[in-house]
Amino acid sequence: MIVAKRKPFTEIKDIVSGHRKILIVGCGTCVAVCLAGGETEVAILASQLRIALGLDGHDVEIDEAIVYRQCDREFLVDLSKKKNVADYDVIVSMACGAGVQLLGDVYDGKLVVPALNTVFLGVAGGPGIWTERCESCGDCVLGETGGICPITMCAKGLLNGPCSGTRHGKCEVNPEIDCAWAKIYDRLAARGDVGRISKVFPPRNNSRRSHPAVVIHEAYKRRFVKDE
Ligand code: SF4
Ligand code: SF4
Repeated sequence: MIVAKRKPFTEIKDIVSGHRKILIVGCGTCVAVCLAGGETEVAILASQLRIALGLDGHDVEIDEAIVYRQCDREFLVDLSKKKNVADYDVIVSMACGAGVQLLGDVYDGKLVVPALNTVFLGVAGGPGIWTERCESCGDCVLGETGGICPITMCAKGLLNGPCSGTRHGKCEVNPEIDCAWAKIYDRLAARGDVGRISKVFPPRNNSRRSHPAVVIHEAYKRRFVKDE
């Protein structure tokens, strides 16, 4: 899932100050799960802004909306049905950076601002904690590394590890955290596949990580790729 956290309140308040009609749009998927941009967080931000802007003497109208998946156009149709988006001076998106940008595309000409900082792709580590697991490198090596990502989990992002600094299973950069390559070794050893750790990966083909990336499913290529 995509993990995000809310921007400092003063940053959000500053960016919407001076606008009279404000629409806050949350997302019901990843950012709802990580308690950053779901229905509850939209309601909290709306209340905070009403109070703070009111105390500053601004006459504001703040509405709230939630979209099931803000990074998908078909779910924005619901938003258009529920709200007359053209009426608002500014849309505050509580989605990840992809959702913010899609809102800006769909409501072209509208000022769309982010209320969250998108942080990483990760997993839930327990209630209220999420840990990074993937940097979307475009050339996944998990099949060779025991299912542990060295790019994300190693402090140096080493594709061939460990470095000489690993000590008792901990990382030299931060002894509080496990050495990713020690974990990879242990995982492979437990599977009786430890020989795999001696594989040397060639330098990464970073062209697979070119931006902006586009992925088209084989079944849809005829529709989107003109030469096919
Ligand atoms: S190797 Fe790591 S960063 Fe690359 S796709 Fe796999 S999990 Fe993500
Ligand atoms: S000690 Fe392990 S996790 Fe830390 S930088 Fe070296 S190889 Fe990576």
